[in-house]
Amino acid sequence: MRLSKSLFVTLREEPAEAEIPSHKLLLRAGYIRRIGSGLYAYLPLMWRVLTKVRQIVKEEMDATGAQECLLPQLQPAELWQQSGRWDTYTQSEGIMFAFTDRQKREVALGPTHEEVVTAVARDLIKSYRQLPQHLYQIQSKFRDEIRPRFGLMRGREFIMKDGYSFHADTESLKVTYDEMHHAYSRMLTRCGLKFRAVDADSGAIGGSGSQEFMVLADAGEDDVMYTADGKYAANVEKAVSLAPEAVASTFTSCEMKETPNTNSIKKLVKFLECDPTSIVKNVLQQVVYDNGLTVLVLISIRSDRDVNQVKLTNELSKLAANYGAKTVIALEVPDGTAIEKWAAKPLPLGYIAPDLGDEYIGATPNVHPKFLRLVDPTAASLTNFITGTNEAEQHIVGANWSTNFALPPIVDIQKAQVGDRAIHDPSQLIETARGIEVGHIFQLGTKYSAAMGATFTNEQGEEQPLVMGCYGVGVSRLAQAAVEQSYDKDGIIWPVAIAPYHAIICVPNISDPQQMEVAERLYTELNQMGIETILDDRDERAGVKFKDADLIGIPFRIVTGRSLKDGKVEVVQRATKQSEDIAVGDVGAKIREWMGI
Ligand code: ATP
Ligand code: MG
Repeated sequence: MRLSKSLFVTLREEPAEAEIPSHKLLLRAGYIRRIGSGLYAYLPLMWRVLTKVRQIVKEEMDATGAQECLLPQLQPAELWQQSGRWDTYTQSEGIMFAFTDRQKREVALGPTHEEVVTAVARDLIKSYRQLPQHLYQIQSKFRDEIRPRFGLMRGREFIMKDGYSFHADTESLKVTYDEMHHAYSRMLTRCGLKFRAVDADSGAIGGSGSQEFMVLADAGEDDVMYTADGKYAANVEKAVSLAPEAVASTFTSCEMKETPNTNSIKKLVKFLECDPTSIVKNVLQQVVYDNGLTVLVLISIRSDRDVNQVKLTNELSKLAANYGAKTVIALEVPDGTAIEKWAAKPLPLGYIAPDLGDEYIGATPNVHPKFLRLVDPTAASLTNFITGTNEAEQHIVGANWSTNFALPPIVDIQKAQVGDRAIHDPSQLIETARGIEVGHIFQLGTKYSAAMGATFTNEQGEEQPLVMGCYGVGVSRLAQAAVEQSYDKDGIIWPVAIAPYHAIICVPNISDPQQMEVAERLYTELNQMGIETILDDRDERAGVKFKDADLIGIPFRIVTGRSLKDGKVEVVQRATKQSEDIAVGDVGAKIREWMGI
């Protein structure tokens, strides 16, 4: 590529629309242009990076025997109705772009492809002899994200590799799942990324395994929790831990106490001079199920701990059948207006007890008349605790489960925190780092095959639902994550494996025939040697060319400048800024040596 003939526009100014370094740099260096919210044009340099990432992903997938295919992005609603996901993906905070076609049929743009691929498997896989199978594709996905941001990190149209495997049993699924773990680790290593594979939330499906591949970077949206011994790493949504030990309660007998102006834990701790670990707080949330029913949830948890909304959603999904529903549509902490819609009388907010009476719920259409009560183990294990009484400005101290309050079902819904003890070894403390999720591997089991009737005949002649796994890599997110992990004040520093070009030849003065002649010769020679090279032959000052070369992050810069008089050119390594004068004839060999090819 000759820059003089290319659509190559860099920006001097910091783009106001970008918050994180990688987004700013990709815009400034002319890799991407914003077209609309969460929509980006991948300009030629970006497309080269993406093509390289795709190629690495493809090679590692092919090496496992997975077969590449391409499924339609436009998907009929029926398939999503069969899997039971149409409503969750299109209603309320659903992220699927759905519309009606001219035949009045509902269709959607694919955010993911479990339904489509399961329909294919349903038609084509009949016998255990055809198993296992693994299909994958690399294409654009569409998601109407609630908060599209950070450029390619969270777009509304983005490139993903998604693969789906089909098995006769879970043992076979586990084999493929482990292969995928290794394939993903190799992909990310080859792309030059520092990453960690962490245990992830596997949603309401339960029981099956799931891991996320996190690129470590401060701008990451995810919190990774881990222990220094390297034996535990999990997404914060999934992380389990032991809360710090509770301090023994100073109240040994049970009594009611006037506690004026103590509607917050902080005020209560100060007033009673107690430790927060002696208090049970009772938190109200409301869940909306897919049948339209709202259920009010009262959670009792130790006052120094927070509720993990993802864990709670999973628990509420398991309970959906009790309310004639299948899935959770929304979960939230109700505000004053939301409470008014169902409350029969004002709630004792700030003073709620675990036994808040069901009479607080007025007869309201689509609202279940009873609280769903749950207790976290941190609260369930307390004795002589302090909690509300449902009366303003009053608390009970020295309370015990069974004696004073019925113990609700115990479920682990607490959020793990830094400094908690690890379950595998309580002497290890939980630490945290920020990560960007670039990949996700998932043992699905029979959720989709059972719902959609994708069955096969096993060796015993019985009809069984296919056992499935799914595996995703955010190709465009990964490319930006590489920048987030590797840049300096002057610009991007691409890992060689995914850099759009390996080398850039800067000609300080294009009207000097000798400079141009050497540059042209090197340009042809290096490209022939497999060193992908750009020629900066623009009519610009040398300083501008050097700045641009640094900004776009090409690993090696060759300058046909002063040292030409000795038959040499200057070669600068982008990452280290190390510069060396090298004889023109040796440049190719030297760069190949640095590249390790
Ligand atoms: P997130 O929690 O970040 O929204 P997800 O759990 O919805 O991700 P998956 O459905 O597992 O993601 O998709 C597989 C991969 O696709 C993710 O690991 C991520 O790398 C990428 N991805 C998901 N959503 C987006 C998006 N809006 N923009 C860019 N990449 C995305
Ligand atoms: Mg998402």
